[in-house]
Amino acid sequence: MPELPEVETTARLIEPGLLGRTIRGVQVEWLRSLGGMSRPKFERAVVGAKVSRVWRRAKYVVIDLQRRGKPAGVLLVHLRMTGRLVVTGRGVDAPDYNRVSLELDRGNLHFLDVRKFGRFTFHPEASPALEHLGPEPLSDATTPEFLYGALGARKRAIKPLLLDQTFLAGLGNIYVDESLFGARIHPQELASRVSKAKALKLHAEIQRVLREAIVREGSSFDAFYRTPEGQPGSYQHLFRAYGRTGKPCERCQRPIRRIVVGQRGTHFCPRCQVLSKASR
Ligand SMILES: [Zn+2]
Repeated sequence: MPELPEVETTARLIEPGLLGRTIRGVQVEWLRSLGGMSRPKFERAVVGAKVSRVWRRAKYVVIDLQRRGKPAGVLLVHLRMTGRLVVTGRGVDAPDYNRVSLELDRGNLHFLDVRKFGRFTFHPEASPALEHLGPEPLSDATTPEFLYGALGARKRAIKPLLLDQTFLAGLGNIYVDESLFGARIHPQELASRVSKAKALKLHAEIQRVLREAIVREGSSFDAFYRTPEGQPGSYQHLFRAYGRTGKPCERCQRPIRRIVVGQRGTHFCPRCQVLSKASR
């Protein structure tokens, strides 16, 4: 499932084809992708609007719209399992699994989604739709000390906490497993039991992993995630824990183990990531 690096890559790569473009029409092939809005209402909301900015918040691609130079709502795209955004030239047929298209004054934006769990929704304002989200892990405001303080206040296993989008926004199963491996923290460790040294290391690992994964345009370990240009990401070649069940830990050669934590497959090294007694 696309996480922060994949969504960031998507936003960056579609931006040049969208910025300054005016929406001339819409095509809706799968109504549920609109998240409950009727087709005519969606059409009225977006047709005639101009794209003023394309950015990312948590796992959302955010497309800001304007009319006559004033804010006119946002499109929030959540890719969920298999969603993709693709910009094509005018007159090019919509790709397979197209669910929603915006016809622009130059080219088209397509929202493709094999399994149809993704959403392409219009909101009159961005803030109410995004206000439940926690801070961005790569923002300057999310300092190592902030993370240490936030962990200290939670008596909850650290992996599900890091997956909780209201705690920290944008992380998912892959990058949490990779960050915890890097910081040598057991995924079931109670957040409040993580030492200051390990919390600071975790902060550094989260940022390092996310930044490197953005440079590598995300991770493609199955047929689904591709960039808007149709290319796979390459961070999967750098995985140290995720999906490496039975393969040797690069630090101690012990086989990586897979367990289930909070209903999510979880990969870690049983020797490098030891659960403290207090968390057992
Ligand atoms: Zn190890």
